[in-house]
Amino acid sequence: MKEKKADIDRRDFIKMGAVGAAALAAGSTVLPVGSKNQRAWANPKNCNAKLIDRLLEVMENDLVPLTQKEVSKGNKVFGAAILKKSDLSIVVAATNNETENPLWHGEIHAIKQFWEIHREQRPEPKDCIFFATHEPCPLCLSAITWGGFDNFYYLFSHEDSRDSFNIGHDLKILKEVFKHDPGGYARENYYWKSYSLRRLIDECKDKTEESFRLRVNRLQKTYAELSKIYQQNKDDTDIPLK
Ligand SMILES: [Zn+2]
Repeated sequence: MKEKKADIDRRDFIKMGAVGAAALAAGSTVLPVGSKNQRAWANPKNCNAKLIDRLLEVMENDLVPLTQKEVSKGNKVFGAAILKKSDLSIVVAATNNETENPLWHGEIHAIKQFWEIHREQRPEPKDCIFFATHEPCPLCLSAITWGGFDNFYYLFSHEDSRDSFNIGHDLKILKEVFKHDPGGYARENYYWKSYSLRRLIDECKDKTEESFRLRVNRLQKTYAELSKIYQQNKDDTDIPLK
């Protein structure tokens, strides 16, 4: 039994995860709903190695160079990329540009650029994977929702942003404006499901897990250096929430 890409809807994607949906889009066999193998495939304990590898690669090769450039102009370290579920190719990669407009967070900047693509060339948001280097702030959680995406993945958590990057606004806004404690928003809801890359890596075993962890450690060091540059220069910018 085969199923075409167009038949894969948001619910299927949420059930199976991106790799499952990508495999489906590539024409893999689809098992009847509720069959044992399909449940195993949907099981988060399965390691999504192909997707994890690709998202780390996008961060290493695409987002880090863009972020280096923007941090040197006074912008924050947050970046985002939108990829096609079908082949994991990049549609848009963007980083924070708050020196131009404090609303241009990495995610918002990516969504803005995505919707500026001519409709003939632009994929449907539901056919895309949304990746954020850092767990999206309340503004970006809403933007991902309004932008029509049914998922997002991230590497660094809200707690990392506060503790390792000295940017505590995400958690403070959640608490002050929405009365939510850390982790208090719905990580899976009617609109989307969110995935922590670290938690996905936890599901991998042995050498695969080890190699992913090494890459995450390297990225952590790179981002710590970028963060240091931002923190040193932030007082020279007009960004309201630094
Ligand atoms: Zn944001």
